[in-house]
Amino acid sequence: MKAAPIVPSSPHVMNTYGRLPIALTHGKGCRVWDVNGKEYLDALAGIAVNTLGHGHPKLVKALQQQVADMIHCCNYYHVPGQEELAKLLVERSGLTNAFFCSTGLEANEAALKLARKFGHDKGIEKPQIVVYEKAFHGRSIATLSATGNPKVQAGFGPLVEGFIRVPANDLEALKKATQGNPNVVAVFFETIQGEGGINPMRAEYLQGVRALCDANDWLMMIDEVQCGMGRTGKWFAHQWAGIKPDVMPLAKGLGSGVPIGAVVAGPKAANIFGPGNHGTTFGGNPLSMRAGIETIRIMEEDGLLQNAARMGTLIQTKLVTALMGKKGVKEVRGQGLMIGIELEQPCGVITQRAADAGLLLSVTADNVIRLVPPLIISGAEADEIVARLLPIIETFLKEQG
Ligand SMILES: *Cc1c(COP(=O)(O)O)cnc(C)c1O
Repeated sequence: MKAAPIVPSSPHVMNTYGRLPIALTHGKGCRVWDVNGKEYLDALAGIAVNTLGHGHPKLVKALQQQVADMIHCCNYYHVPGQEELAKLLVERSGLTNAFFCSTGLEANEAALKLARKFGHDKGIEKPQIVVYEKAFHGRSIATLSATGNPKVQAGFGPLVEGFIRVPANDLEALKKATQGNPNVVAVFFETIQGEGGINPMRAEYLQGVRALCDANDWLMMIDEVQCGMGRTGKWFAHQWAGIKPDVMPLAKGLGSGVPIGAVVAGPKAANIFGPGNHGTTFGGNPLSMRAGIETIRIMEEDGLLQNAARMGTLIQTKLVTALMGKKGVKEVRGQGLMIGIELEQPCGVITQRAADAGLLLSVTADNVIRLVPPLIISGAEADEIVARLLPIIETFLKEQG
């Protein structure tokens, strides 16, 4: 497991990330190691991607076999794995059809195209889609236009038109923004905003939006790229509110690390695309399908939804007990293993300090510490996350005075 020594700024790789001076080489379960042999507890999971942690024996075995059998063949042919994974996804979501791609932004692009064609099919020439403040949907031109973070958009104008932006959890604001507008075709949001700072949509709000979408014949499109795939303790985070979307983009955790994206659609959106309307070379390849199928199978065999709910409650309860009411702490929030600790001050330095202490996590939206560990995490590891993190937060708060 030897890797090249890390270079602080590579002469050949584009400088697009603010990277930590750490190079990871391998992992096992919820632990990873760097080139120097230092061990870390992984509470980031490659940004909510490594559902089964690292090197899960059942997944490794299945993927090794699939690599040997076939990696890619393209969509000129039927891919049996697509049928199998689509069936697993529709059974768990209560929706009806899936389209496969390779990343989150591609899943969202497909959703945006579905919404526009949904409009065109009923004679709306300039369809408009409702999006949200603090939303994150990806970094393609259309998805960054839908994103509600000016930093993501800066330098990339002109933005794609046809979006109406509203604040989260405010049904009146949504009604007002769309009042008498015949061009609205869809409402598009994350059940729990991830990059925006772990901001959940309330159940009553989701139910209200569902009713509004039904009343106006709009598509309800829920970006579950980060909060979906069992992370919150249900297959999909919106299921806590007892509603169903019409369109649901997925990616991140779906393949436990193998690049994969999907758009799952219900009856209202399942037949909008016909042959020639959409496609992608890599989408639905046999390797990524195997990763998705095995991820779901293993999640069920190992009871990982229940584990995510239990471990999430354990971590959140400990954090709330230790931090709530402390000066400099705004809120501890989230669901299952998607947890945010919002501080009063920007706290990006905590990422490096946690890594120094052997804990991988991220800080998002400037002042929200984000914990999204693998769903296989044990009680002892959950305790360890809290034990390593609390002193770092306490030191940070003391420095702030
Ligand atoms: C990460 C993320 C995306 C973008 O996914 P990529 O695979 O990076 O393109 C879109 N939506 C949400 C909610 C995300 O968290």
